[in-house]
Amino acid sequence: MKILALNCGSSSIKYKLFDVDRNYQVLAKGIAERIGQKSSSICQTIENKPEYRIEKYLPDHRAAMQALHQALAENKSGLSGDIGKVDGVGHRIVHGGERFRNPALINEEVLEQIKESAMFAPLHCQPNVTGVEVSRELLPDVPHVAVFDTAAHQTLEPKAFLYALPIEYYEKYKIRKYGFHGINHSYVANEAARILTKPLNDLKVITCHLGSGCSITAFEQGRSIDTSMGLTPLEGLVMGSRCGDLDPSIVLYLIEVIGLQVEQVRDLLNRKSGLLGLCGHNDMRDITEMAEKGDKRAQIAIEIFVYRTQKYIGAYAAALNGVDVIVFTGGIGENSPSIRARIMGNFGYLGAYIDQAKNKNNETMLSSDDSVVRLMNIPANEEMLIAQHAYTIITQSVKNKGKI
Ligand code: ADP
Repeated sequence: MKILALNCGSSSIKYKLFDVDRNYQVLAKGIAERIGQKSSSICQTIENKPEYRIEKYLPDHRAAMQALHQALAENKSGLSGDIGKVDGVGHRIVHGGERFRNPALINEEVLEQIKESAMFAPLHCQPNVTGVEVSRELLPDVPHVAVFDTAAHQTLEPKAFLYALPIEYYEKYKIRKYGFHGINHSYVANEAARILTKPLNDLKVITCHLGSGCSITAFEQGRSIDTSMGLTPLEGLVMGSRCGDLDPSIVLYLIEVIGLQVEQVRDLLNRKSGLLGLCGHNDMRDITEMAEKGDKRAQIAIEIFVYRTQKYIGAYAAALNGVDVIVFTGGIGENSPSIRARIMGNFGYLGAYIDQAKNKNNETMLSSDDSVVRLMNIPANEEMLIAQHAYTIITQSVKNKGKI
């Protein structure tokens, strides 16, 4: 069975095509980038062959989806040139609200519910909905499965997910912490346990997803018990262009005193803040280089990024009453020895020590031999989990109904 995993963002679509029968071997992977801009392109790698780029104007997600399907078909990626041979599609869906604790086979009803949940975070969810709609049109005869970024955090208890607002705002309007990046947090927590050959149920794990978006999750007995993002992916850590935690009164001040419109505030908090707002750049590679050359704004941006991350790790170690494993993942978490070393510099009191040589080489095990807490580097692989979930749902549904 061949499963296509799709991760549809606002200006990009990442995809991987897996052969389930060959132990989830990746037949092809790629990204359609800068959708809507003149410089858009598709970059694809077919099984062990060099990456190649197709420069092509992709005015919208529909065009991007068509182009990636064509790229897959043309390259005979185990599909004999026929995209119709994809047996199922797994979609990353950012917000599943309280309704979706598990992946779901997409039908009209499920799609309507996904659209309802998207109301909480339209900026992040609209591209997902478009992705599902276009993809169902292009591949109408295969099952499509929604895999939710919020689902793994539906295990949070009320003490972790309720905000201290009047309770009716939760009861009536479902305003609460949902948490995101759940697909990858679950994936790396399970990978950590697998690599350590221990059941995840027996480990206290803190997973730090540090990419363009950043979040931290605490796992106990195999379940997410707290996570840093909230109703939307705006709460928590300092991110590429998102502010993370703020005094909510700042929003009122921006509107009432500075005179910004609601839409301008949304844009400010999501697209102009974070590292970008603090130092004018959102790519940690550039910021690190600037800081090394003495740029004061870049230095303070990194300090704030590191400090906020440390505070959350400390808070989650307290929530867990100890920690066995801290995992780094995401573009920064996987690739930046200097940021990891700075973050871990403050946890000697927990018995957590980084090995500078292993850290410099981006090894999987980053902790020194005498470290009580295992520090690990595990690459994000959301598409793998999406494909695994899609396969499970599709085979269950075949068993249950005799057909899909
Ligand atoms: P996305 O959320 O878009 O998938 P990624 O997980 O790819 O984001 O992370 C993007 C971030 O990772 C960017 O800030 C980028 O600068 C950073 N990054 C990638 N490689 C490195 C590196 N070698 N050193 C520092 N930061 C890096």
